[in-house]
Amino acid sequence: MNYCRFLLEDRIHYGAVEIRDAEPWIVDLTAAPPEDLAFHLARANALALVHDPAGFEFEPMPLMAADLLPPVTPSKIVCVGRNYRDHAKELGNDVPSEPLLFFKPPSSLLKPGGIIQMPPAATRVDFEGELALVIGKRASKLQADADWRSFVRGFTLANDVTARDLQKKDGQWTRAKGFDTFCPVGPWVSDEIDPSTGLTIETRVNGELRQHGSTADFIFTIPELLTYITAAITLEPGDLVLTGTPAGVGPLAPSDRVEVSMAGLGVLANAVQNQPD
Ligand code: MG
Repeated sequence: MNYCRFLLEDRIHYGAVEIRDAEPWIVDLTAAPPEDLAFHLARANALALVHDPAGFEFEPMPLMAADLLPPVTPSKIVCVGRNYRDHAKELGNDVPSEPLLFFKPPSSLLKPGGIIQMPPAATRVDFEGELALVIGKRASKLQADADWRSFVRGFTLANDVTARDLQKKDGQWTRAKGFDTFCPVGPWVSDEIDPSTGLTIETRVNGELRQHGSTADFIFTIPELLTYITAAITLEPGDLVLTGTPAGVGPLAPSDRVEVSMAGLGVLANAVQNQPD
């Protein structure tokens, strides 16, 4: 199943996504996943902000015509640095012997089609196209032989936008990775792909191919990452895990358009501008 999250008539909905004639369509409304606590609490309190799909008239619409939201509402975003050999090399780093973890704050989430704001404090803001896991079930202290797929609701795309100069200057990465708008996610979540088979992830800037990697080149596989992360941190339903970026990262400039894509997950497209005063 593929699902997105979107605004329609000032209400938040979840929609089932299908490909029709090579274009993604929202074909029907669907129930919110149980991890969207805000959705379910609002519904329980009969707030008008959100809406139960039951009884709501919906005509299929092209995904591109929808007012999309990030498809997830995570309590935290756990990221993996340097998980492709070629990317570790391009930044002059050794291939790590253990996963390198950091957080992005949920306040950095940006919807598909939203605008990445380049902060005045940064002189170089890079794109990093990444595959993201969406957690579906609380995961703590997973063993290496755990059925990891049962803890993952599905997959989506992310852009781990990074202020590269501040990453170096600050010595730790919270600010460089954490600016508002620095975590575009979407456009939909799918449980119909299998990254262990080696899936191609690509990033384009203004239509030009800049990153082309395969999940077959992960230094640490998804079950290895989940075992390592959950040894330290309990992952909650709805949490995101960004699995790292392949080689080819580079700077963005105002008026650029950056697109991250993978077959089965669509295209995550965002424009760039200087943060307004
Ligand atoms: Mg990254």
